[in-house]
Amino acid sequence: MTKRVAFVTGGNGGIGSAICRELASRGHQVVAGYFPPEKESAEAWQKQMHDQGFSIALAAVDVSSFTDCERAVGEVTEEFGSVDILVNCAGITRDGTLKKMPEENWSAVMATNLDSAFNMTRHVINGMLDRGWGRIVNIASVNGQRGQFGQANYSAAKAGMHGFTMAVALETAAKGITVNTVSPGYIATAMTEAMPENVLESIVNSVPMRRMGKPEEIADAVAWLSSEANAYTTGANIPVNGGLFTSH
Ligand code: NDP
Repeated sequence: MTKRVAFVTGGNGGIGSAICRELASRGHQVVAGYFPPEKESAEAWQKQMHDQGFSIALAAVDVSSFTDCERAVGEVTEEFGSVDILVNCAGITRDGTLKKMPEENWSAVMATNLDSAFNMTRHVINGMLDRGWGRIVNIASVNGQRGQFGQANYSAAKAGMHGFTMAVALETAAKGITVNTVSPGYIATAMTEAMPENVLESIVNSVPMRRMGKPEEIADAVAWLSSEANAYTTGANIPVNGGLFTSH
């Protein structure tokens, strides 16, 4: 297997951690992007990964900033070589119904969840085109496919992310690059585990498989999409949601 350089934004988050572990276990040089103010907790996370047997590098990057992504990609390229695999996983929620949504909650979610895909991809795409190989995986959400009460910002950003996937897939298909979206349903992470038990129960009851997904189940899909084996699937939106939402 060819060893690749994989940059995973939000790499130290719940789903990002599983993606980093899976890509590292496949022999890649994994770089986990973390939100710059969280240096201390990112370093603690890195040690935790190391203790579990995974050697993962860190890169500070604010994905909502085009220039910060340019700096981070430049530094990663200098240290490890060109980025071959990009996983855009960083994301936030700022929920609330539209009638009460402050403008900053719209802007923050669009910047972190949608602009981020452009901000990161723009700085790796020319290298991938030059080398004739690349894998880009965008982590969207089931709520970008079906909409969700109280998430006009998040649903719009995640739906937009897949529009970006489809267009970039077409622009790069002839050059050895695949670009795909993974849309998770409800995934058990520290964030969802902190929810009240009755809320969790109603979520689980709404899922045809009657359970939350595991971060590893997202990581498996990402790992396959970013592998050599996936040379022919591009522009796809892969649902990993326990049957919560199905579509053509
Ligand atoms: P986490 O909050 O655990 O992970 C999100 C990561 O993004 C964190 O590491 C966070 O850093 C980072 N981040 C936030 N803002 C920025 C920024 N401006 N620049 C760089 N990094 C940033 O959430 P999950 O692991 O659950 O989610 C991962 C992705 O999966 C997200 O895109 C989310 O929308 C999506 N998703 C999750 C689902 C779920 O059920 N968990 C369902 C569907 C989609 P920090 O914590 O330090 O701020």
